Amino acid sequence: MARKFFVGGNWKCNGTAEEVKKIVGTLNDAQVPPQDVVEVVVSPPFVFLPLVKSTLRPDFHVAAQNCWVKKGGAFTGEVSAEMLVNLGIPWVILGHSERRQLLGESNEFVGDKTAYALSQGLKVIACVGETLEQREAGATLDVVAAQTKAIAERISNWADVVIAYEPVWAIGTGKVATPAQAQEVHFELRKWLHANTSPEVAATTRIIYGGSVNGGNCKELAAKPDVDGFLVGGASLKPEFIDIIKSAE
Ligand code: PGA
Repeated sequence: MARKFFVGGNWKCNGTAEEVKKIVGTLNDAQVPPQDVVEVVVSPPFVFLPLVKSTLRPDFHVAAQNCWVKKGGAFTGEVSAEMLVNLGIPWVILGHSERRQLLGESNEFVGDKTAYALSQGLKVIACVGETLEQREAGATLDVVAAQTKAIAERISNWADVVIAYEPVWAIGTGKVATPAQAQEVHFELRKWLHANTSPEVAATTRIIYGGSVNGGNCKELAAKPDVDGFLVGGASLKPEFIDIIKSAE
């Protein structure tokens, strides 16, 4: 079964309203492959979600970069899944390594958030990935399997989940995984899904790569059979994001 190519732009904690308007303008003017070929989702900081949602072309979609683990209430500083749904935001990124590392989000917490977000009707880009230390210790597959397991134990509707494999050593470093390195982990993740969820989930779940993807390296990565798209940080703020979207073809 064909898996539709997915390109996410993670703007992280960047941008002013003026800069956001400029990026949206560039995206709105871009000639890209049609929606049945590539799904494009951009993820601005929370405060810019309404602006982006109301000005972005309708064939591109919007994701939040995080949401709270349960129903909203007395949780100062948090944004709930219900609020995102209320705003018409279809997607959320969960378990990004910056949150795992800087804010101490555990595998279980990310799994709980994923389950709650799905229960409220959001679609989830769930991030997994090993540190350089873990890779050098030969623990890459154990780490990503444990991260995926904590999600798999808590959910059943994989149709609304995209897995983003983002090796921590490749994020924002300019040090991209080789196509072979990405393919190896994506293949193993799919094998893990086959054994631990179902053959159908393994065949249909999109596994996208993130970590220093740019206009120059995207084509070679996209050619790998188990690379179903990208989650792009730095380059998603630049016009080359369009070239990355075009690598779907
Ligand atoms: P990068 O970030 O493309 O800047 O490496 C990717 C990400 O963190 O999603």
